[in-house]
Amino acid sequence: MPTPVLIVFDLDDTLYLERDFARSGFAAAGAWLQERAGIAGLGEVCRAFFDAGLRGRIFDEALACLGVPPDPALLEQLISVYRSHEPDIALAADAARYLDGRDGLVPSALITDGPATTQQAKVRALGLDKRLDCIVCTGALGPGRGKPHPEAFERVEAWAARYGLPLAYVADNPLKDFVTPRARGWWTVQIERPERVHHVVAPNAAHAAHARIASLDELDACLARLLPIDPRPVRPFPTDTSRRIPIS
Ligand SMILES: [Mg+2]
Repeated sequence: MPTPVLIVFDLDDTLYLERDFARSGFAAAGAWLQERAGIAGLGEVCRAFFDAGLRGRIFDEALACLGVPPDPALLEQLISVYRSHEPDIALAADAARYLDGRDGLVPSALITDGPATTQQAKVRALGLDKRLDCIVCTGALGPGRGKPHPEAFERVEAWAARYGLPLAYVADNPLKDFVTPRARGWWTVQIERPERVHHVVAPNAAHAAHARIASLDELDACLARLLPIDPRPVRPFPTDTSRRIPIS
């Protein structure tokens, strides 16, 4: 039986590698530019810059590298192709294993930041729309509603109340992912994939997760260690404690 905790996952660099989305998007933008203007090699140059650690302005730098003069309209189109393409991505192997062990047994949810159409395309490409029970793309909630804004967490709590399970948020970015769920009494676990895009540390204890793991293969053992300890919630959760499933 899977651990009786309602796990809410982040998406990028939690269930799949964000690097793979970037590579897929660069390939799509490169194919678009070749077809549109007969200019070859953009995807490969972007990927090389990305793999070398460049973040932001990758299309600008790659176009310059290919001898294409600066063109704001072209740049906008490339970004649009990148964000709206159907991504060629796959669940991380440990994420697929973990979800396989929970499908149909314990409800799971997702909270993800980013443009809603981009995130929804990722969700579909990974088959998560058929596996997760509640999916919140904060980009669909309106401007300024990305993490750490509480609205997505409030929505998941309202949906999850029927189950009476403890909540845990599993994510990768301590700058924005953990401070809100932690303040609301959720358990928080940071996954540190070696190939992740963001290598950042929590600025203070309020932003730090309760525990850190390198793979979802470690998650159930991690939760088993955490759950006997009082998480000191800001307010009690779940409100109907008589329905809480005991953790042994
Ligand atoms: Mg993430």
